[in-house]
Amino acid sequence: QAHLDRIAAVEGDVHAFLHVNEAALDVARQVDADRASGEALPALAGVPVAIKDVLCTLDMPSTSGSKILEGWVPPYDATVVARLRAARMVPLGKTNMDEFAMGSSTEFSAYGPTKNPWDLTRIPGGSGGGSAAAVAAFEAPFALGSDTGGSIRQPGAVTGTVGVKPTYGGVSRYGAIALASSLDQVGPVSRTVLDAGLLHDAIAGHDPRDATSIPDAWPSMAAAARDGASGESLKGLRVGVVRELDGEGFQAGVRQRFHETLEKLAAAGAEIVEVSAPNFQYAIAAYYLILPAEASSNLAKFDSVRFGMRKDVAGGTVEDVMGATREAGFGPEVKRRIILGTYALSAGYYDAYYGSAQKVRTLIQRDFDAAFEQADVLVSPAAPTTAFAFGEKLDDPLAMYLNDVTTIPANLAGVPGMSLPMGLAPEDGLPTGLQIMAPARHDARLYQVGAAVE
Ligand code: GLN
Repeated sequence: QAHLDRIAAVEGDVHAFLHVNEAALDVARQVDADRASGEALPALAGVPVAIKDVLCTLDMPSTSGSKILEGWVPPYDATVVARLRAARMVPLGKTNMDEFAMGSSTEFSAYGPTKNPWDLTRIPGGSGGGSAAAVAAFEAPFALGSDTGGSIRQPGAVTGTVGVKPTYGGVSRYGAIALASSLDQVGPVSRTVLDAGLLHDAIAGHDPRDATSIPDAWPSMAAAARDGASGESLKGLRVGVVRELDGEGFQAGVRQRFHETLEKLAAAGAEIVEVSAPNFQYAIAAYYLILPAEASSNLAKFDSVRFGMRKDVAGGTVEDVMGATREAGFGPEVKRRIILGTYALSAGYYDAYYGSAQKVRTLIQRDFDAAFEQADVLVSPAAPTTAFAFGEKLDDPLAMYLNDVTTIPANLAGVPGMSLPMGLAPEDGLPTGLQIMAPARHDARLYQVGAAVE
C-alpha cells in the first residue's frame, strides 16, 4: 500500500510506469495470509517489484515501449517473471522504456519520457529509465531491467541506483522481447548492492527454454555482498582501471568521484593497476552494426499478423498491410536501426559491415582476456556524464550513441557489469555511477567489491 500511495503521489511528475498492477494488493494479502498460516516463505516474499515492459507478463500488457504492441497481453510469463512469482514477490507494474530498448534516455518511448526524480528536466537514462526512476523515486524497492548495451547500468548511474548486467547466459532471456539476442541480459535494479544480490539470486539459474542459458549452478550473490561489506576482501584484490574509459569525453565531476573511489579502494588494501583495452575505441562502431543487424531480424515478427497492431489498407495486399502497420507502429529510432541492420546484412555488404563488426567483437573479447590476466575486476565510470537535459541529444543519434561508450564493451564480451552510486558531481549535484566488471561467470566478485565501496 505504501508503494501504491507513493506511485499515486509522484507518477504525475515521474511517469516511471506504463501500467500499474491492480491486483498487487491482493497478491500481497495472499502472502500475508500464507505467512499467518505458518507457511515457510522465501526471503523476498511480499516485497513489491517493478518489471520493465520488455518482459512478458501473463496478467499485464507488455509493449516494449512501442505502439505496435499497444495493449498486447502475452499468453505466458517470461521465466524471470515466473521466478519472481515463485519467490512470492508482488509485481507492482510495468515500467517505461525506450521503444524496443533502443535508446539512452527513454525519450524514444512511444508513451512519453520518464523524468529523472533528481531533476525533472533531465533524462533518467535508458532504455530502462522507468525501472531506475521507479526505484530512485521510492515507488518500488526493486525492479527488473534488461541490458543490451547498458540499459540497466547507465540509468543506474544517472539516477543513483544499483544495476547489474549478469554474465551472458546467467539469467534466462525466455519471454524477454528480444532486441539483440547475442547481447541481451535481464538483471536487477535496486537501491543497495545487497538488494541487487537478493533479486539476482531470485532470477538467476539455468532455463531449458533459453538455449544460451548456462547450465551450471551459481553461488549466492547476496552472500557475496554480505561477505564484501566488511571490505576485507579488497585486501590484495587487483583492480584494473581501463585507460580508454577515463579521460577525454568524461565530465570533470564524474572523473573526480571516480578517482576518489579509486583512492578509497587503495586505502582499503586493493592494488590499483592500469590496464589498456585498445580495441574498446571501436566498440560503439561494432555494436551499432551488430545490434541493428540482430534487431532487424528480431523485429521482423511484428508483421501485423502475429502480434499487436494491424493497419488495414482497403484493397491492399498483405505486403501493403504489413508496410502500413510497421510505418504507423514503429517510431523513428526503431526504423533507423531496422534500415541500418537490413543494409548491413544485405548481400554484398555483409562481409564489409557485419563480418568486420564480428571481428572487432573478437578483438574486444581478447582485450578483456588480457586485462583480466592483470586484474581481478575492472572499473570505470558507468556513464561519461551525469543526466543530460531532455532534447539535448534527441536530434543527434551519434551523440546519443556515444553515451554508451563505457557499458557496451561488457555486452560485446558477455562479461558481467555493475553500476552503483559513487556520489554527486560537484558541478551539478547529480548522481554519478561507478562501473565494476568481472570475468564471465564471476558475477559474485561484482557484489563483493560493490558492497565494499558502496
Ligand atoms: N543505449 C543503448 C542502445 O541504444 C543500450 C540499449 C540497451 O541496453 N537495451 O542500444
